[in-house]
Amino acid sequence: MKLFICSEMFTGTEQRYNQSILVDDETIIWTGDNDSNEILKYEIEEVIDLTDYFVMPGLIDCHMHIASMDHIPASPIECSRATVNSLQRLTELRTAGVVACRDMGSSEGITIGISEAQKHGEIKGYPTLVSAGRAIVATGGHGYNIGIECDGVDEFIKGTRSVIKEGSDVLKVMMSGGVNSPGEEQGPPEVNQDEINAAVKEAHARGRKVAVHAHGNTAIKRSVLAGVDSIEHGVFNSVDIIEMMLEKGTYLVPTLSAPYYATVEGIRQQPDNPDHNKSKEILDKHNKITLKAFQMGVPLAMGTDAGCPFNPHEKAYYELILLHNIGIETADVLRIATNNGAELLDLKQLGNIQVGKEASILTLNKSPFEDFSTFEGPKQLWLKGVKVQ
Ligand SMILES: [Zn+2]
Repeated sequence: MKLFICSEMFTGTEQRYNQSILVDDETIIWTGDNDSNEILKYEIEEVIDLTDYFVMPGLIDCHMHIASMDHIPASPIECSRATVNSLQRLTELRTAGVVACRDMGSSEGITIGISEAQKHGEIKGYPTLVSAGRAIVATGGHGYNIGIECDGVDEFIKGTRSVIKEGSDVLKVMMSGGVNSPGEEQGPPEVNQDEINAAVKEAHARGRKVAVHAHGNTAIKRSVLAGVDSIEHGVFNSVDIIEMMLEKGTYLVPTLSAPYYATVEGIRQQPDNPDHNKSKEILDKHNKITLKAFQMGVPLAMGTDAGCPFNPHEKAYYELILLHNIGIETADVLRIATNNGAELLDLKQLGNIQVGKEASILTLNKSPFEDFSTFEGPKQLWLKGVKVQ
């Protein structure tokens, strides 16, 4: 058994001080005061002194892509290469302090092979991967490279059943175009109400949650009405829909990193591309509506959209800094990045430092309650009780 001795800690839901965490193999079996006599009952093989660090559960990135999204692997050789590259992305996420992540769509659904290998214990030491596999997309719609094209209620049902058959953990539906797609409104709707209703009913009947890419107002509204579990991005959201989200308990996964990196890195690398300049406006809108949704009480979970242009997996923690910068308090940002992600992804073993949970623990050199930029500094990480960095 290992005993982690801590001074300042965030459990996933609350701040605690001078606490110890006792870990047997991969599981937390006891927590309590550092000077508790109860600890004498246990046979401790290793003591890990973390009193100089800030201790919290590892981060959960609910929206990212580990496989390339603009190239469909056409041959077995390309597939094996894409798989190896995907594992490298998982390693980079781990460097950022991530212990679990959800891939929101991959060409031919190749990430399912990785999450299945992980479920069977064939690969170890990577963040827990939840895979959508192929997304459900209208013909020619946003992200069709990573999707299965479906039109009409019957095809939405067939598409949903097909990706579940392939091993999808969660259904991803592309409800709207991108922020810059042409249409009558920004983030134009691509899926009608009957289609999304059918997909949600089918996925829920088979125990899968539904996450939707939705930028435009109409697309978000249709998704919430259909009863999806999370709105991903949600740039052109509005107060009336936020009220509906509150009623239905719909999560928001904002992905502030996407327009942030498109603005900062995109403009630096491609100064003449008009899309990057538009991203500034999008970033501002995304920031404001995300804060509004949070203030109105919508549950948020952390998502980076890492894997999209200029959006690096190894800086996944930067999403927390962006959430903090828009005015969300430290404790709330930490809860969004840990406890809430575990709830949304149904990863009951993660997201909190509590008895019965997996010992997937992150340390920072300073307390983020004093200096939030500590997330950019060195990190130590234990995955299932094993130190991985
Ligand atoms: Zn995405």
